[in-house]
Amino acid sequence: MGTTYHITAVLNPEVIVAQSALQMEVDKLLENVNQAMSTYIADSELSLLNKAPVHQPTVVSQPLFHLLQLSRDIHVLSGGAFDITVGPLVNLWGFGPEERDEKKPSASLIAAANQRVGQQFVRLEQSNLQVTKTASVAIDLSAVAKGYGADAIAALFKAHAIVDYMIEVGGEIAVAGNNARGIQWRLGIEQPSLVQTGVMQAISVSHGGIATSGDYRNYFEFEGERFSHTIDPKTGYPITHTLASVTVVASSAAKADAIATAMNVLGPDKGYALAVDNNIAAYFIIRTKEGFVSKASPAFNQYRVTL
Ligand code: ADP
Ligand code: MG
Repeated sequence: MGTTYHITAVLNPEVIVAQSALQMEVDKLLENVNQAMSTYIADSELSLLNKAPVHQPTVVSQPLFHLLQLSRDIHVLSGGAFDITVGPLVNLWGFGPEERDEKKPSASLIAAANQRVGQQFVRLEQSNLQVTKTASVAIDLSAVAKGYGADAIAALFKAHAIVDYMIEVGGEIAVAGNNARGIQWRLGIEQPSLVQTGVMQAISVSHGGIATSGDYRNYFEFEGERFSHTIDPKTGYPITHTLASVTVVASSAAKADAIATAMNVLGPDKGYALAVDNNIAAYFIIRTKEGFVSKASPAFNQYRVTL
């Protein structure tokens, strides 16, 4: 996934697995996730699905199917803002597996790439785990894979009777139980800046996923304009609004990851309205002339703590 992971867990006496063995299992698991979901690996399960001819049904693994289903749910929820077929645009803007070219593509190239975008062209058949593309689209799960990786490690831990953990993969988090001091894990939502550091808001979540989507880590600047790696499928252009980051708490890290990306596309107003209407816990950090300003949906407030 081109990123790092970090895990803190409390190993109670019931836990019999050795830490070194667990580390190996985690690495193996993440390799398997990559081998299923990565578009950077030419023979990954997802790459093979992308290469399959249009209209030809492909049977996929349960985890891949599950992520495709989750992605469809968030696509529908967000009115198309979240779209896993956005790959041609991601590549065109230089954020994909293809080599990076830090300049703005022409309007005609953007329009041409946008012709190959549309998640409604990915048909899912739950009963037999079949996926059929009804148009020539390519699927990119970058916006959910890290969250899914954290959930997969959480499932591995549960199987080993580890119930107190905080698992972070590329910034997306799966959390359960308590820390070593016997109290709920505390997390800090950082200031969305590489120069100004510090916690804007501390939260505590007993069980679930937390993900942040922002434009301050992965972007490029060209002729004074800032281009984020999150693309608005409606326009074909990187998002340009004043949202610096959005953090979402959900029942799983994959879900939080997808919703955070969707909120990041929608921006501070439409994203906030969606969060309020659907009881989603979301915390927005907005860039203003006076500095960062935050706005939280009502469902988020239950997670706030003071440090
Ligand atoms: P962030 O943490 O900023 O949300 P993610 O890694 O979760 O970042 O998602 C960004 C990646 O998702 C991009 O690199 C791109 O591959 C993909 N992506 C970009 N725009 C969209 C979109 N509108 N819907 C789904 N995936 C997207
Ligand atoms: Mg995401």
